[in-house]
Amino acid sequence: MDTSTRCLHAGYEAGDGGPRQIPIYQNTTWYFDSSERMARIFDLEDNSPFYTRLWNPTSDAVAARIAAIEGGVAGVLTSSGQAATFFSIFNICTAGGHVVSSSQIYGGTYNLFAVTLPKMGIEVSFVDADAPLEELRQAMRPNTRCVFGETLSNPSLNVLDIEKFATLAHEAGVPLIVDNTFPTPVNCRPFEWGADIVVHSTTKYLDGHASQVGGAVVDSGNFDWLAYADKYPGLTTPDHSYHGVVYAERFGKAAYITKIVSQLLRDLGSTPAPQNAFLLGMNIESLPVRVRQHITNAQTIAEWLAACDGIKQVRFPGLAGDSEYELAQKYFDSAGGSGVISFDLEGSREDAVKFMDALRLVKIATHVADARTCVLHPASTTHRQLSDEQLVSAGVSPTLVRLSVGLEEVSDLIADLENALNA
Ligand code: PLP
Repeated sequence: MDTSTRCLHAGYEAGDGGPRQIPIYQNTTWYFDSSERMARIFDLEDNSPFYTRLWNPTSDAVAARIAAIEGGVAGVLTSSGQAATFFSIFNICTAGGHVVSSSQIYGGTYNLFAVTLPKMGIEVSFVDADAPLEELRQAMRPNTRCVFGETLSNPSLNVLDIEKFATLAHEAGVPLIVDNTFPTPVNCRPFEWGADIVVHSTTKYLDGHASQVGGAVVDSGNFDWLAYADKYPGLTTPDHSYHGVVYAERFGKAAYITKIVSQLLRDLGSTPAPQNAFLLGMNIESLPVRVRQHITNAQTIAEWLAACDGIKQVRFPGLAGDSEYELAQKYFDSAGGSGVISFDLEGSREDAVKFMDALRLVKIATHVADARTCVLHPASTTHRQLSDEQLVSAGVSPTLVRLSVGLEEVSDLIADLENALNA
């Protein structure tokens, strides 16, 4: 079935006389008649929800929906995108391990990799995603356990060459994990290009209404853990906390996700609330219509901005002159990638602030991918501690504006932007 149909139907089937919408299981626990059955559940021999920290049917249905639209074999929801990224790595890379990551990634992920993972004994090497494969290979080490990148990076809007990164990972016998938050599976399906695992901040387009924070991890089921058993003992040797289960042997293609659920959600929590999972599942129903309209609106606005006086540069992969245009044509159904544009104003940091403050319909928010258009000036928010010189070396100019184009009538947005530019 097409992605649009999957967004509406995958993960949940009502059955005769059943509720039409995914029911919200707003409960922590399940009752059982025998302790023997409960014991079987604890040995992973009986498949039933018993405690929401590990498994809740509402979240499970929505995770299955996301797995279906990504084309994966299994998925799991987490309470945030950050938790999803952390779990995707920690599930296969622990103290003594090493990760190779594109440096063009979301700032929160950068902090997780540069500051927090090293405290846990995991080293991360950052690479320039545009470097040729021969150069990237030099970052790989014998203890490398995965390669990581963002299909469309936030906020720099770089398009990952997924095939190049998959080759880098696979020739070293490790999986490629990608964050597919910005394009969403409506516009890019990384498994078709060789990625093994996909993570999402569902907070963004998958929710799309700024209603809840969440994340997801999806496994393609394609990486053969047993073929590299020495690298992944967590999946290929007995887990004594489950009476010696060997995940890769017992669960086959579902091993990676089963391990996240039964070990990481059990021990670290980060479970989404059932109510949030319900909202996410419902909002995914309209994902294809929304994402296509976000991109169409953004394309119109990017072209309008590019022709405006007072704008130094517009970055949007759907513009023919953009450095990412060719990769975007290859990997995305619609080259624009997402509804996010970044542009540089003529003038000073103060002029950029004046522009932002003059906007009326478009609101200032630390967010992207909302149905309502929002805007952020990194120099006065996320990067405000940096001097103008430091900003330039961080790739964020003092006049850079990030615009997340929503679903309003595009002429209303242009009128608001025009007023603010004139101001
Ligand atoms: N990945 C990307 C590309 C993001 O933009 C974000 C947040 O902005 C995250 C991950 C983290 O997600 P969350 O805020 O849901 O924890």
